[in-house]
Amino acid sequence: MPSLPENCLFCRLVAEGDHVHAADGFVAIRDINPIAETHLLVLPARHVDTFREVDAFSDEEAGRMLRFVAETAQAAGLEDYKVLVNVGEGGGQTVFHLHWHVLGGRFDRGKLSHALALETA
Ligand code: 5GP
Ligand code: ZN
Repeated sequence: MPSLPENCLFCRLVAEGDHVHAADGFVAIRDINPIAETHLLVLPARHVDTFREVDAFSDEEAGRMLRFVAETAQAAGLEDYKVLVNVGEGGGQTVFHLHWHVLGGRFDRGKLSHALALETA
C-alpha cells in the first residue's frame, strides 16, 4: 500500500539520511541491501508515490531529475551501469516514494533476480 509522506521511510532519509550526492531537490543514498557492487538510490526530495505520477514533475524538474541520476552515477565513478525503476507492487516496488536504482559493477545475481521479481513462485 502507498505510504503517507508523514510516515514515509524515504521522506525521512531525505531529511536526515546519509546522502552521497544532493542537489536541486534530489538526493542519492546507498541502498541498505545492495544487489550490485555499487547500488545507489536517487530520490526526489518531494514525495511522489511512484513513477506513474511522473506528471507531478514539471518538464524542467523531470529533466533535472534525469540529469541528477546521470550525475550520481558519474560521481560514483560509474561509466557503464543500469538504471532501474520498479513501478507498483507488481513491478517489484516496495517503498512507495519514487526512486531510481543506479546499479554498477559486479551483480549479486540471486538478489538481482529477486529485485526484478523474476523468481518463480
Ligand atoms: P524498491 O523495491 O521499492 O524498488 O526498492 C526499495 C529499495 O530500498 C530496496 O532496494 C531496499 O533495499 C532499499 N531500502 C529499504 N529500506 C531501506 C533503508 O532503511 N535505507 C536504505 N538506504 N535503503 C533501504
Ligand atoms: Zn516520501
